[in-house]
Amino acid sequence: MTLVEWKPYTRSERDRIRITETSCCAAYEWACQGGHFLILRRSGKRYEEAARGLYRQARDTWESLILEHARDHMERQKGKGNSNGQTGRVPKNRKRSVRADRDRGIPDRR
Ligand SMILES: [Zn+2]
Repeated sequence: MTLVEWKPYTRSERDRIRITETSCCAAYEWACQGGHFLILRRSGKRYEEAARGLYRQARDTWESLILEHARDHMERQKGKGNSNGQTGRVPKNRKRSVRADRDRGIPDRR
């Protein structure tokens, strides 16, 4: 785990912030404000910021966050196994099981 310190992001009216990059799943946003770079992420209705500072320093944090996020995806995929295609199979299965119930002499409950 990357240790990143997130702080609530507060923006005053005068501040001009430019978001130039959005990470996978829009998990993080790469922003530039007043010559500084920072990372934003959504936290409920608010934003949090991290790694505000020089490009290189903020970028290192950004890259490790992205890597971590990608690792999360891989782990979740591994855990899922072969659940792909399940959504397309559901209606057919339901029809088939109703028919099977009728074959067995179980009346439709209506
Ligand atoms: Zn993602």
